[in-house]
Amino acid sequence: MQQSAPAPVAVPGLVDHHAHLLRQAAGIGVAADREAVRAFHERVAREGSTPMDVLDPSPDGRDLPGRLVTGLGRAAAAGLVEITEMGMRSWDYLDALIASQAVAALPLRVRIYVASGLMAESSPAELDARRADCGPWLRVDGVKFYADGWLGPRTCALCQDFADNGGRGLLFTDAAGLARRIQPLAGRGWRIATHAIGDRAVRTVLDAYDLAWDDDPAAMAAAAPRIEHASVLPADLIARMAARGVVAGIQPSFAVTDAGILGPALGPARAAAAYRWSALAAAGVPMLAGTDYPIEVLEPLVGLARLVAGHSRRPGFATADAAPAQALLPTAAAFAAISDPAAGRTLLTADPRTVAPDDIDQIEVVGTSPTPFCA
Ligand SMILES: [Zn+2]
Repeated sequence: MQQSAPAPVAVPGLVDHHAHLLRQAAGIGVAADREAVRAFHERVAREGSTPMDVLDPSPDGRDLPGRLVTGLGRAAAAGLVEITEMGMRSWDYLDALIASQAVAALPLRVRIYVASGLMAESSPAELDARRADCGPWLRVDGVKFYADGWLGPRTCALCQDFADNGGRGLLFTDAAGLARRIQPLAGRGWRIATHAIGDRAVRTVLDAYDLAWDDDPAAMAAAAPRIEHASVLPADLIARMAARGVVAGIQPSFAVTDAGILGPALGPARAAAAYRWSALAAAGVPMLAGTDYPIEVLEPLVGLARLVAGHSRRPGFATADAAPAQALLPTAAAFAAISDPAAGRTLLTADPRTVAPDDIDQIEVVGTSPTPFCA
C-alpha cells in the first residue's frame, strides 16, 4: 500500500515587505557591481539628487502585463501571498497590473511604494486619484525616499569613518529637506518609507520624521513611517525608533551576505552594532521583513531560516557565511515579520513555527491562497 503524504498545514500567508520584483520582471534589473553602484551614488550626490529621484527609462511595453504576471507567479510559487514593490519608478507598472487584474485574478497581492522622483512629477490630486482605486489585488500604499548609499560600496552614511576607507559615506538629503518632502504626502495619508543603512542616515531620517510629524509621537506612531534596512544602529537610535513607533524594514539575507564585510568596513565595535535585530525586537520596534529581491533571493523560507538559524542549508542557497548572533530572532518574532494573516494563507509541508531552526528551509511549499484587498 502506498503511504500517503502528511496533509499540508495552512499558516498565515508569507509576505515580502520589500522587493523590486516588478522592475526585475520588466527586465530592468539592478547594477550589482560595487564600483558601478559607488560611481552612481557619487554622481547622484554631486547632482544634489537621490537614487529614488533618478527614474528608469519606461519599461519596454511589449506584453508588460504578461511579464509582470509571470514574475508574480514566480513569487506565488515560492509561497508568497503578497509582495511590496519598494520604489516603483513608472506608472506603467501599475497600469499594466490594473489591466491584468481586469482579465484574471493576480497570483498574489501587490503593495506599491512609489519612488519619490515619480511622485515629484505628478500633482497631489493625480497622486490621490492613482492611490484611491486600484481594484482587488493592488494597493498603492506610500512613497519611498532614499537617504544614503549601501554598505558594500562604502556609500552608506556613517557617523564615524569606515574602518577601511577614509570617508563617512554619502547622505543624499538633510533632515529639513526630507521633512519638507514628507509633510504634504503624510498629511494626505501616504505612508512613508526611507532607505537608511548607516547610523548617520538613520539619525537624519529620525530627525526628519520628528520634523514632519511636529514631534508628536502619537501622530507618528499612527502613521507608522518605515526605515528600510536600518543596518548600523547604536542603542540610542533603537530607543528613538521604539519611542516613536518607527517601523524597521529588515532584510534577513543581508546579515548573511554582508557577514564577511562588517568587520573590514566598520571595525569590531560597530560591526557588533550592525543588523541588531534582536535588540530591535527586544526594544519593541515593529519589524517587517523583506528580501530586496533581486539583490537577494526571493524564497521566504530561505529568508526565515536565515533569520532564525543564521543560515540556509537548502541546496542552491547554502553559503559559507552565517549571520552574526545579533541578527537572529526567535522563531515567533521572525515568522511574524515575514507573514500576514490578512494577506492570505500559505500551505506548507510543515509549520515553520513548530520545527527546529535547521529544518525550516527543508519545508516545501504546497500552495497559496491569497486574500484580495477587496471583492
Ligand atoms: Zn530595495
